Amino acid sequence: MNRPSDEPGRPELSIVVPVYNEEPVIAELDKRLRATLSSLGMTWEAIFVDDGSTDRSLQLLTALAAEERGYRIIALSRNFGHQIAITAGLDHASGDAVVVMDADLQDPPEVVAEMVARWREGFDVVYGVRLAREAETIFKRASAALFYRLTRRVAGIDIPVDTGDFRLMGRNVVLALRGLRETHRFVRGLVVWVGFKQTAVRYKREGRYAGSTKYPLTKMVRFAVDGITSFSVVPLRVSSYLGVASGVVALALAGWALYTKFYVRGVVQGWTSMLIVISLVAALQFFMIGVLGEYVGRIYEEVKRRPLYVIRERTNLPQGVRDASRQGDRHLEATPGSAQGGAAGANAQAGDQLA
Ligand code: UDP
Ligand code: MG
Repeated sequence: MNRPSDEPGRPELSIVVPVYNEEPVIAELDKRLRATLSSLGMTWEAIFVDDGSTDRSLQLLTALAAEERGYRIIALSRNFGHQIAITAGLDHASGDAVVVMDADLQDPPEVVAEMVARWREGFDVVYGVRLAREAETIFKRASAALFYRLTRRVAGIDIPVDTGDFRLMGRNVVLALRGLRETHRFVRGLVVWVGFKQTAVRYKREGRYAGSTKYPLTKMVRFAVDGITSFSVVPLRVSSYLGVASGVVALALAGWALYTKFYVRGVVQGWTSMLIVISLVAALQFFMIGVLGEYVGRIYEEVKRRPLYVIRERTNLPQGVRDASRQGDRHLEATPGSAQGGAAGANAQAGDQLA
């Protein structure tokens, strides 16, 4: 039984899928998604967020949405990145439960049934923990493992290890998340931050169905830096610890220099060691200025209060759904006929009311 939700009234389940150049995957995604959704026997909507794809992803999705009223599309005006795409989807999802899922079928849609079951038991967040990562390169697996453990350690927030963005969230959690409008987003950390009753389901992470990863090393490093800096000031503290430590070393060196000057005869004063010390200290300072710069840069980004994303076009999204996402919003609507900008009411509470 296939029951896409028809308005009025909210669907029981929303699925949010960020899509960036996923053309070869979309037909299979559609097939597996539909099979799963119809087996659940819930009313549903699927929200695809096209994150500025340059291939035919959006056309394919639009064609599917013409047939399937439960498919909704938000097309962003350019590539804003995975985390922002998820945010845009969450802002528009109106289900009692909302599932975030990758487009490439690495997060198997079939696991959603299990998540829904746990949610019905009374959990507000059900996150997917990866048991195995099939068909991913050793490098990808190693760097991911390091990333999860490092962020957890340094960020001091209890982010579950080996957990991506594949998760189910109750509406209460989604509404709370909508109140967090920071620019550098690390969604899985934000979900932990809002709290509520959380539990895990384990699943096997398959290889990508088709296409290639949209997370090259550079993006992964940025993502890790965002994850750490958005939840912690530990790197700032490290700079002061290092400052103290290098101060102690400098004192010892000074003592040694004085000792040689007064008690050792015929010593050529240590030009080499001096050079080493100076360059080491300079390097240390540069590094720490860099750390400071990361934070100062972030303060700058946040202070600007720019909208998080700009929407170019939407399909099958009723007006009411859009209004529901507008409280506390920081997104711009670039569709004709919508005059309101995003920045207004940036401090509004995440409420359930329509604007
Ligand atoms: N994605 C996105 N915007 C981006 C990069 C990725 O919306 O800038 C989407 C992508 O289409 C996929 C999900 O985010 O649905 C995860 O990306 P990917 O599978 O490339 O990451 P990986 O699984 O390799 O970490
Ligand atoms: Mg993937």
